[in-house]
Amino acid sequence: MRMILMGPPGAGKGTQAKYVAAKFGIPAISTGDIFRENVSQGTELGVEAKRYMDAGEYVPDEVTNHMVRNRIDEDDAAPGFLLDGYPRTLAQVEELDGMISFTGHKLDAVVVLTVNQDELVERLLQRAKVEGRADDTEDVIRRRQEVYAEQTEPLIEVYRDRGLLVEVDGLGEIEEVTERIFSALSSVEQS
Ligand code: AMP
Repeated sequence: MRMILMGPPGAGKGTQAKYVAAKFGIPAISTGDIFRENVSQGTELGVEAKRYMDAGEYVPDEVTNHMVRNRIDEDDAAPGFLLDGYPRTLAQVEELDGMISFTGHKLDAVVVLTVNQDELVERLLQRAKVEGRADDTEDVIRRRQEVYAEQTEPLIEVYRDRGLLVEVDGLGEIEEVTERIFSALSSVEQS
């Protein structure tokens, strides 16, 4: 199974990604998590990424693409993977197409979690308190929503046109949303 989990910041992607990936026996690859690990380890990549993350902007495509290419080349991703937070731009979509077709596989599904905007901001402010993330201040939250609307929302139509889109209501208890994703994916054919 090669799939993408999409949704605006705060839609609960990270939490759901772990459950869904576990069910399919594939790694959940979160670009945000990989960037954060690099930031905490003070790597060159981390230093570069932090400037963008703290402002709520996207890390440049070349940097992100390179990082994802290396990650999905690892052995554990050979049977498949779930991408959480990638692709986020049209250029990343193209890059991912190339990475997957190079291995002779195809993308099986793109799950989009849909959540109401007010609920999102509320969730993000709550998460900021719990996790103390530097990119969860109110201004940065607002900027991240704008960037998502401008650069990432257009991807939904791209994947809809390809017949890969699976829309799931992201509102409700975690287990409830996980069940909705499982049942929506049950009809998806895996390559
Ligand atoms: P996330 O945890 O997925 O919300 O990601 C946190 C931050 O990492 C984002 O706000 C971006 O600054 C950066 N980031 C994560 N994934 C990507 C991506 N695919 N392209 C560019 N920047 C990204």
